[in-house]
Formats: sequence, C-alpha cells, structure tokens
Amino acid sequence: MTDQIATGSCQCGKIRYSLLAPSRELHHCHCSMCRKCHASMFGTYATIQREYFLLEEGKEHLTTHLTTSDVHRHFCSGCGAHIYIDVDWEPDLVWFTPGTIDTGHPQHPVETERHIWVGSKNPLYSITGDLPKHEEFD
Ligand SMILES: [Zn+2]
Ligand SMILES: [Zn+2]
Repeated sequence: MTDQIATGSCQCGKIRYSLLAPSRELHHCHCSMCRKCHASMFGTYATIQREYFLLEEGKEHLTTHLTTSDVHRHFCSGCGAHIYIDVDWEPDLVWFTPGTIDTGHPQHPVETERHIWVGSKNPLYSITGDLPKHEEFD
C-alpha cells in the first residue's frame, strides 16, 4: 500500500493518478499556450517530484502535445483533459493539473501559490485576490 495524499482523474475517467507527497509549488499560468491548451482563462499547475506522481491507469490513452520543443503536455485522448506536463529543463519534476484532483489536496506550501505570465493574460479576465502576480515566470 502506498500512502496517497490525493487522487485525480481526467473527465472521462480513463486516466487516473495519485500523489504520494505534497506538491512543491502551485502556479496559475496566464500564457497564451496554457490558455489555449486548456481553452480557459488560465492553466493551473502544481509541481511535484516525479517519483511522487503515480500514473495509476490509462497511460495508453495519453496523447502528448509539444507547445515548444521542451514542454511536453500530456492529455487524455478520450476527453481532452490535460493531466501533466514534462519540461525538459526540470526532469525531476512533473507539472500536474490540480484542477483534475478528485480526493485530497495538492498540499503545496501556501506561500508558493501565484499567478505567472500575467503580461500575457486574456484581456477579458481581471485577476482578483491577493496572490502574487508575476509578469513572466519569475
Ligand atoms: Zn479522459
Ligand atoms: Zn503557461
């Protein structure tokens, strides 16, 4: 038995994953690639050490899309839900989508939650709240 702190899945249920440890950081990304891939005002990701992100079911249903040559976005070929990203510059980390969590919580340190790439945000959207806002990634 592993100790899961959270479980998640895609909308159609073919992809299932577990988190075995707290996430490191949480980002709300407003870049145009995340907005378009998610067909949403922003994409939310939490980062976790790769060994603590366990793909339990549905690996064969994942499709990968590269928005740039070093960003590999994995999504369900059945329902289109984005599940996680591999970035070539941080091979030890997985960027998963906490919006797909079913039970539990990503447990990221609360001070790490922030908006990134707000310089590229959709003009229809106004960011409210007290979270830090970064023009780009840092
Ligand atoms: Zn699916
Ligand atoms: Zn982005």
